[in-house]
Amino acid sequence: MADSCLSLLHDSEANQLGSLFQRHYDAAFADYFSRDPAKWPVFSEPGLNRIHQFRQQKLAPNERIAAYPDGLALQQLLAGHASIAQQRLVPNGMPDDMLTFAAALSKDWENPSSVENVVTMPCDPAIYGSMMGAMANPNLAYSEYAGMADQLEKYVIRQIANQVGYDPEQSTGIFTQGGTFCNLYGYLLGLRKSLPTALQHGMGRVPDFRIINSQGGHYSNMTNLSLLGVDIKDKTIRIKVTDSHDMDYEDLERQLRACFAVNCRVPTIMITMGTTDTFAVDRIKPVYELRNRLCEEYEVEVAPHIHVDAAVGWSMIFFLDYDFARNPLDINPVTLAGIERTISRVKELKYADSFTVDFHKWGYVPYTSSLVMIKNKQDMKALENEPENFSYFEHDLQGQTHLQSTIECSRGAVGVFGAYAALKYMGIEGYQTILAHCLQNANYFRHQLLKQGNVKLMAPENQGPSVGFRIYNPQWVDDVVAEFAKEQQCMTHPEYMELLRRNSQWHRNAFKGRGKVGLYTNWVEFISRSAYNTAGKYSYIPGEKAVFMNPATGRSQIDLFMRHYC
Ligand SMILES: *Cc1c(COP(=O)(O)O)cnc(C)c1O
Repeated sequence: MADSCLSLLHDSEANQLGSLFQRHYDAAFADYFSRDPAKWPVFSEPGLNRIHQFRQQKLAPNERIAAYPDGLALQQLLAGHASIAQQRLVPNGMPDDMLTFAAALSKDWENPSSVENVVTMPCDPAIYGSMMGAMANPNLAYSEYAGMADQLEKYVIRQIANQVGYDPEQSTGIFTQGGTFCNLYGYLLGLRKSLPTALQHGMGRVPDFRIINSQGGHYSNMTNLSLLGVDIKDKTIRIKVTDSHDMDYEDLERQLRACFAVNCRVPTIMITMGTTDTFAVDRIKPVYELRNRLCEEYEVEVAPHIHVDAAVGWSMIFFLDYDFARNPLDINPVTLAGIERTISRVKELKYADSFTVDFHKWGYVPYTSSLVMIKNKQDMKALENEPENFSYFEHDLQGQTHLQSTIECSRGAVGVFGAYAALKYMGIEGYQTILAHCLQNANYFRHQLLKQGNVKLMAPENQGPSVGFRIYNPQWVDDVVAEFAKEQQCMTHPEYMELLRRNSQWHRNAFKGRGKVGLYTNWVEFISRSAYNTAGKYSYIPGEKAVFMNPATGRSQIDLFMRHYC
């Protein structure tokens, strides 16, 4: 399937925009992303309306302040002396100038050219839902402080459980502060299960252990481990990745065996469903089966906890039941093949012990709305702190909530309300339509880049929203595949290290010189990696990327970029 997708990328027929698809997309965009007061009356509020009107001009980032009424003066006020006003301000029903200015001039994720990273404009229903949550202000720490919001949280958790194939009665979840915190829970669950004494005595006197994650993982893995007091250098094994950036299972098996053979515990195996820059999707079932097999073979008492960082990739769960044969949405052939490839892996999410869901990324919900899903609610017991620490709360009610097990005390519910509203209005089909639009854009962009002849795509078999690429000077390079293959050997050939440096510098100059036109792409230092040397060391390969999560982006922005790309 990967191969069929790669050859289709060259085929302009397979990249066409179907007219039926276009109708689905237009309707979904109008209903969920247009800030239309007729559909969502909240947008008729004068301040919100002013923000929207300004953003509708779709100005380039460097034109915006000058175009905003009194923009420069307002900016000077913000940069100037700051003190709290002595006198109270009587509301007059008019929008506040500074609030409106700061909101309108925040990064404009509605601009169709905004493709910098895994960040999006939120959808209309989720904005509305979040506002309701903000107004009600429930605190999910404790059921008495949450009221009905507690049940809304559990409802959304059951919706996600049903969608991925978790048992909704056996599983649970926690809305928390960002994907980083979700992954923190993933690590903590493993540590508390495998090294229970650490709850009281810290990491100083625990039996020998190793945490396992992937070299392709997000940097939050490292911030979390450091926070947890895990020695990143000596107690963490980062598994090698393949050329497609997913986990190398042979290396994983080797490392797990090496640990178990000497009775070294493995609290958590962290894998990734959709890496941020290259959308590598690790297979989950093979990890699950390997873990079970080795635990039996070595008689390991507490199995490693498998957490899947699906912060970006979770959105693909909306395609789990898509009828690929009938293709009711008229998704184009290359994108359909790509989604089918990804789904063959996303299906395995139910084998994870827990996973990260970032609604605020590819779920179009305002920040922050992250959910960590946990397959077996008994696992929460391992996180429980001593009940006497919770003297603020009535004893009988504590057991009904996750109070004793959460990292946070106060837990806001704005994300729950936003997520509920987005899921309710967009439904599976609404999400499928918007996500497929993004993926069709990504493939159209890949197709255009491939046509140029001087561009090497990074792992195009990973059919996600991010497109990473390197542009070469056509005067120096006529075969980009051969050139990239040389660059990948830079750890063993010093002359290729120099080649990599020179080509990267040329591309970076082209990127800088072009400015932001058509697509506001980004430069990243690690878009791919070199081959490993015999010591297992590798070098980062830099490049450019665009992430197609913006529902407003269309082919005209891509075409404009291509006219200026180098
Ligand atoms: C964004 C991201 C995170 C971190 O999530 P936040 O919500 O930004 O804290 C973790 N893992 C991956 C793969 C991500 O893309």
